Amino acid sequence: MSYKSFVGAELKVLVDMDGVIADFDKEVELRLKNRYPEIQITETRKNFYISDDYPEHSLLIRSISDEQGFFETLPLVDNALEGWQRIIDLGYHPVICSSPLGTNPYSKAEKLNWLRQHFSPIFGQWVVNQAIITPDKHLFGGIALIDDRPVLKNSDIATWKHILFDQEYNKDVTNKARLYGWLDDALPELLEVASISNSNPK
Ligand SMILES: [Mg+2]
Repeated sequence: MSYKSFVGAELKVLVDMDGVIADFDKEVELRLKNRYPEIQITETRKNFYISDDYPEHSLLIRSISDEQGFFETLPLVDNALEGWQRIIDLGYHPVICSSPLGTNPYSKAEKLNWLRQHFSPIFGQWVVNQAIITPDKHLFGGIALIDDRPVLKNSDIATWKHILFDQEYNKDVTNKARLYGWLDDALPELLEVASISNSNPK
């Protein structure tokens, strides 16, 4: 597909990074496989935190995602660039909204570098300039937040509606709007519903 640059739209759609556009788990599994081939990679991810899926190796796995260079090397989630373009084409303004990993002092800077590497060449520098890296996503405005985390802190007082980005480890959540990957045909309707509920404040 060809990508068009952002032309400006009023309604913001916030987009998480890890597990939504940046494949955190894949990089952990790759490093595990290369360094510790004796550790069996789990077939089905069950817990939000990958370290919880490896109870015997949880400290090791946490040390992997705390390494310098970890966040910069995450592979793209399938079709993430197409998804970003779809949001723009539907007339919305996508904005990155991602939490730093508290135990990794490089995560914030590396997340921005990752966007520079993957998103800026295609969409422009505005993606990085407008990116919000915060532990308090509820403080930032938007009609929707596309995020893979099952429960978001203070979502009840946020302006956005949580659209859950489908992952194996969030299958149990049944009370949220769900996006089944970036090519999901339901994206226009999910954003439309979010924009309507946003114009009718709670
Ligand atoms: Mg996430």
